[in-house]
Amino acid sequence: MTRIRQKNLTAAQWSPNGERLGAPDLTETDSHSFGANVFSTGVQRERLAPDVFEKLQATLERGEALDTSLADAVAEAMKEWALEKGASHYTHVFQPLTGLTAEKHDSFFEPVGDGTAIAAFRGSELIQGEPDASSFPTGGIRATFEARGYTAWDPTSPAFILENPNGALLCIPTAFASWTGEALDAKVPLLRSMDALSRSAVRALLLLGDSETQRVFTTVGPEQEYFLIDEQYYFERPDLVTTGRTLFGAQPAKGHELDDHYFGSIPERVLAFMMECERELRKLGVPVKTRHNEVAPGQYEVAPIFENSNVGSDHQQLTMQLMQSVARRYGLVCLLHEKPFAGVNGSGKHNNWSMSTDGGHNLMEPGETPSENMSFLFFCAAVIQAVNRHQGLLRASVANIGQDHRLGANEAPPAIISIFLGAELDRVFETISAGEGDPNTPGETLELGATALPPLPMHGGDRNRTSPFAFTGNKFEFRALGSSMSLAFPNTVLNTIVAEAIDEMADALEKGISDGADLAAAVTAVVKDAYEANKQVCFGGDNYSEEWHAEAELRGLKNLRTTPEALPEVISDQTVAAFEHYNVLSRRELESRFEVWVEQYTILANIEAETTASIARTMLLPAGLRYLALLADAEVGSLDEEVRPLVNEFLETIKELEVANAYPDGVEGLDLAIFARDSQLATMARVRDVADRLEKIVSDDLWPLPTYSEMLFIR
Ligand code: ADP
Ligand code: MG
Repeated sequence: MTRIRQKNLTAAQWSPNGERLGAPDLTETDSHSFGANVFSTGVQRERLAPDVFEKLQATLERGEALDTSLADAVAEAMKEWALEKGASHYTHVFQPLTGLTAEKHDSFFEPVGDGTAIAAFRGSELIQGEPDASSFPTGGIRATFEARGYTAWDPTSPAFILENPNGALLCIPTAFASWTGEALDAKVPLLRSMDALSRSAVRALLLLGDSETQRVFTTVGPEQEYFLIDEQYYFERPDLVTTGRTLFGAQPAKGHELDDHYFGSIPERVLAFMMECERELRKLGVPVKTRHNEVAPGQYEVAPIFENSNVGSDHQQLTMQLMQSVARRYGLVCLLHEKPFAGVNGSGKHNNWSMSTDGGHNLMEPGETPSENMSFLFFCAAVIQAVNRHQGLLRASVANIGQDHRLGANEAPPAIISIFLGAELDRVFETISAGEGDPNTPGETLELGATALPPLPMHGGDRNRTSPFAFTGNKFEFRALGSSMSLAFPNTVLNTIVAEAIDEMADALEKGISDGADLAAAVTAVVKDAYEANKQVCFGGDNYSEEWHAEAELRGLKNLRTTPEALPEVISDQTVAAFEHYNVLSRRELESRFEVWVEQYTILANIEAETTASIARTMLLPAGLRYLALLADAEVGSLDEEVRPLVNEFLETIKELEVANAYPDGVEGLDLAIFARDSQLATMARVRDVADRLEKIVSDDLWPLPTYSEMLFIR
């Protein structure tokens, strides 16, 4: 049993009554603070001349570029507002292909020659920035010697002020592209996919009898899981610091078998962290709503109210960034890795997704009238068709090295993409498919053309926690995202593939109508065809079970267990066709992403493997040797016989890992990623296995790494 080493726990600035250096003003009320640091529409209305404000809103609605005079006026108002808030610098924040957020700060102040400086911020500086972008990954799109990329203001995601104890920073959300117009970031394709989906959905709505809707927005509400551990232990673990996860660690005697953590009462220090985090996020206009303990010890969840996909995605990046910085104020470290602790539940992110009209109607909400139901069933069938056709791409959209410990390993959800509709919706589609009414609910049927339908599920319905893609009453929940991920690409994929399915179904609907069918009959026929052609992807049972894996194979569903297996889907002919057709990403832009992601996988695997070898050789092997020396003095022969072979085995596996880490000659690209997976990561697992056995028998005071018990149970 290992002791708990509690050296200077909570020695950070924190004390339970919140009285600490730089503590936030707790008297501030929520209504005052929500959005207080956002250059919101309200602030714009207040600070811009009425005609400028009107013009800005109009250009935003039409999605057009701003003219320079307008930009100058907006920049001036934004600068004045930011200076009042204490900002000295501004930055264009953008999301390069690393999946992280990047920023470069510039001062507002310019020297004027007489030794003083004035604050200046021009429209041109607001609209466009030129970060020295040569060191961001581009997957070969832009050779480093070719000029720069540029950032372009995204006026649809509001600018905000980030506070720091020593000042403040005006942050301007931007897109990042090359001079030749190729997207070098995650935002550009997301915006393009939202436009594509809007065009398809508006077209379909018109056919369905809605001539009012001008624009359809996709919405996203993420549920974010994370771990908190005491920072003392974090800094004593080179593996956590370098790779975000523990590469060693024997299982603790107590795990989550007792189920005493999930939804349990939140420890005080953790709650203090959550409250400060939420207060900061509210000031930035992020509508955080839910918080609770998650299944694993030390694991928690936070969820905001949904927003349009672009703003929701930006807010999610901000949330992850703030969680990590606020945690440090409490002597904690926030881990967003998908699998920080082997043998303990990993962390995911649930991506709740829907489509809403500009009139506020949620297209995934089953309606109360036959015509609303018709539209709901039409769009729902489009989602089924899209997910079935592009299963592989959806899987690839959530692939990263951390995810390989969850998807396709022994954890939820599986790498096989399937849809859970729920019993009620299942029955509705089956009824349509059979071309008959439902005998069980004759009295309450809704007329939809010739077909009598059972009432649609009005809310929630039943739940299936094991499904990677579930209908949850008024939205679909894509549950396979990893906790560290940006929402941008998975939503770009969803929007694009659903846009394609909607268009194909709209084509069929147009044809049905022109062939003389009445609308209801034509819709029923289209929904029936789409469902029947794609129902193989629908599954309501236990997604973890062996039987499902066997059945999924019979059904021909893809099971792409690891990142190197999944990533080629990003450049499949089918993906390229859909993404080029909707102008979301060109073949070249898709290829660049494929290259960058393959390379990231390989580099991260190599860092893990090198870190494993180094910790094993320089920290753990010496611990084993010291213990052997101790045993030699004690002259307890049988103990020595237990430990010595293990230490020898350890050294042998370390040497094997060092050989793998030397890399083979001439292997590159996807082949190198596969090598990393099969040689480096596989050998690492064996090194760890021996180390974890050693940890259990070596004298505890000699073992240099904090244990799982310490990291998971100290709150
Ligand atoms: P549950 O997962 O138990 O159904 P909620 O209904 O509160 O819980 O929703 C969970 C998440 O789904 C929240 O982040 C919420 O904002 C989001 N969500 C709800 N409605 C939508 C929608 N129309 N589009 C996108 N996300 C949504
Ligand atoms: Mg959920």
